[in-house]
Amino acid sequence: MNFIGTRGGESVTGAEAVVRGMAEGGGLYVPEYFPAVSPAEIEEMIGMDYPERAARILGKYFDDYPQDELFGALKNAYAQFDDGDPAPLVKIEDGLFLLELFHGPTCAFKDLALAILPYLLRKGCDLCGVKEEILILTATSGDTGKAALESFRDAPGVKVMVFYPDDGVSKMQKMQMCTQDGENVNVVGVRGNFDDCQGGVKRIFRSAECRDKLREKGVLLSSANSINVGRLIPQIAYYFSAYCDLISSGQIKNGDRVDFAVPTGNFGNILAAYYANQMGLPVGKLICASNRNNVLTDFINKGTYDRKRTLVKTMSPSMDILVSSNLERLLFELTGRDPALTVERMKSLASTGRYSLRAEELMALREKFFGAFANEEDTVDCMYEFFTEFNYPLDTHTGVAMHAAREYEHKIADDVNAERRQMVVVSTASPYKFPQAVYYALTGNDVKDSFKGIKRIHLITAMKVPESLKALRYKPFRFKTSVAPDKMFDEVLAFLG
Ligand SMILES: *Cc1c(COP(=O)(O)O)cnc(C)c1O
Repeated sequence: MNFIGTRGGESVTGAEAVVRGMAEGGGLYVPEYFPAVSPAEIEEMIGMDYPERAARILGKYFDDYPQDELFGALKNAYAQFDDGDPAPLVKIEDGLFLLELFHGPTCAFKDLALAILPYLLRKGCDLCGVKEEILILTATSGDTGKAALESFRDAPGVKVMVFYPDDGVSKMQKMQMCTQDGENVNVVGVRGNFDDCQGGVKRIFRSAECRDKLREKGVLLSSANSINVGRLIPQIAYYFSAYCDLISSGQIKNGDRVDFAVPTGNFGNILAAYYANQMGLPVGKLICASNRNNVLTDFINKGTYDRKRTLVKTMSPSMDILVSSNLERLLFELTGRDPALTVERMKSLASTGRYSLRAEELMALREKFFGAFANEEDTVDCMYEFFTEFNYPLDTHTGVAMHAAREYEHKIADDVNAERRQMVVVSTASPYKFPQAVYYALTGNDVKDSFKGIKRIHLITAMKVPESLKALRYKPFRFKTSVAPDKMFDEVLAFLG
């Protein structure tokens, strides 16, 4: 299987796509076609454990990797997760499920892909004959950064540099990143928001001058953001896995369509669901859930993407994004895979802050996606009601998704023709990652300190506290630098020495 760029350019192998991170002309790599998964193959996957299911999906895209080795790497990667199941499906009530993706080392769904990315990259370098040192440059809205640091910590031949928005991540997320161990890591705050961080990183990627300077130092750039197909493809696996679990627990028959509600920021997670559907997974609607930064809701409802608005800080910081990178990949599909049209729109987005879909593209988008958003009050209300009803504490991002799922149910409630399907809400983070906001949502009370918040949530919910978060309390801050967005590359050079 080869990968092509959304903005044109030559096609490359999976290994090359992973190593390069970004395609020529500033585009993103996408698979040349979507490999099919037949109903019979889904039937086969029911009896498999998670690493086996993941190997089946990843193997279709990364067929240039030795398949036994890939499977072994997946087994190792997911052995670090609590209870050995990285993606348990929890039944809440008839028709409603939570796909818990927060049982990894850093307590957010990013772990599922980042656990395997080091293998994909290291082996990818071997396969491509790359000898240079790799610098993983990452912009984070809070969770990717920590997951990348943890998975690449002390990896030979790799350095990791993470940029996060100074005031745009939760205290817990900041603590997780700034106390990171490892000799090959660096963490830098950016005086700006996530879009400034991500914009700065993309500028470095696209700049021939920056790349030349790095080449002089014997360094090759790669990315741990979801622009990298090595991040995106592993995320497809858990949608298939959830579907298999619904069949094996007798909730659906193989072939029944299922809805997924996904809390969305950079559009990576929900794009993986769309890819799963393109491969043959029976999906009804994909509920694209946003917080107050509801660019995507407007896009799905009106067909115009308009980033010209002010980014607001919310209690779901990992979704505080106005420019969703991965939307470019969906756009590429909606245009019938037209690189020229994709370039045109991305240019328009860069110069005017907006672009619009044609009527038939909007129709295709709305056929599959339902967009809804939750403001802060909606989120708190949803989390409170959910806890009261089911005694289950949602994290703030999952609260946004639950609200959007309820909106969708509400919308089809009066429609006698609407198909009634199982709803899987994708739970992207542990509530203990956002203890102050979660405690407030559950009780209406503020708590000053994150660790006190953790303790109190534990007292009222009895949900197990992840050891990695408890341990943060005693770890010293190693990284304290923050810079202006236009000084990011200087920091990169300083780090490389
Ligand atoms: C990253 C993240 C999201 C958004 O995922 P995208 O793939 O960027 O759309 C949602 N929730 C949490 C907890 C996250 O860390």
